[in-house]
Amino acid sequence: MQMFPVIFVSLGPGEPELITVKGLKALQTADCIFCPETLAKDGNRVSRAADILLQLDIPENTVHRFPLPMSKQREKALSAYDEVYMESSTLRQQGKKVCIVAEGDAGFYSSIHYVYDKLQADGIPVKHIPGIPAFIAAGACAGLHIASQEERLTVIPGIITAEEIEKYMEEKTTIVIMKLSQCTEEIHRCIHLHPEYNYHYFENIGTEKEKYLHDTELISALSFPYFSLLIIRHSTF
Ligand code: SAH
Repeated sequence: MQMFPVIFVSLGPGEPELITVKGLKALQTADCIFCPETLAKDGNRVSRAADILLQLDIPENTVHRFPLPMSKQREKALSAYDEVYMESSTLRQQGKKVCIVAEGDAGFYSSIHYVYDKLQADGIPVKHIPGIPAFIAAGACAGLHIASQEERLTVIPGIITAEEIEKYMEEKTTIVIMKLSQCTEEIHRCIHLHPEYNYHYFENIGTEKEKYLHDTELISALSFPYFSLLIIRHSTF
């Protein structure tokens, strides 16, 4: 019996066409695709990854949605991932082609990598098909040259102070701030202290709810949802 590696397919930021050809082919030939979903405040089960699969015409009977708790307590998410790990290794042993999907790139701030590491530690062959991270799609949406010539780029996963941002701007480092909802107050404070920096705010990139704002007053009036990020540059572009 032929056995296949477990494939981690990066879906891109939200727009279905932004998946790679390689990623799409893996999904189209899969027997089982593990896809995370979360419980929204109104009790509905939501999954951006499943929305992308649907738009790509992936047969629903191959998609296995699993609940991913979004709470700060990592243990709950880890036990959901442990189940994916067990089920995916069993299916693989039965000769099934198994894919596990993640938004953006599966190796960039993607907690699903925990399953990848666990399978690999067990000697199970794994493969990662790369994808377009949200910040790259965001830069393209606004026509930004995210970093040019000798400029550096730093990615911050949510926790930062206005003073730290000042330092990056002094050294002309462009910063990308992900998980913005974790540092709303500091961002508002930084805009107040430094309206001269170039703030590019993005929300739900690649979906019909996509939003791009460059106006500091508008950005300071926002409370940031989960799918939002900010690119701050020292220069006018
Ligand atoms: N693996 C993903 C990142 C996951 S971390 C990637 O490669 O992009 C989750 C964070 O990514 C969110 O808090 C948000 O800051 C950002 N993000 C992901 N998708 C997004 C989207 N469509 N629009 C804006 N931000 C997004």
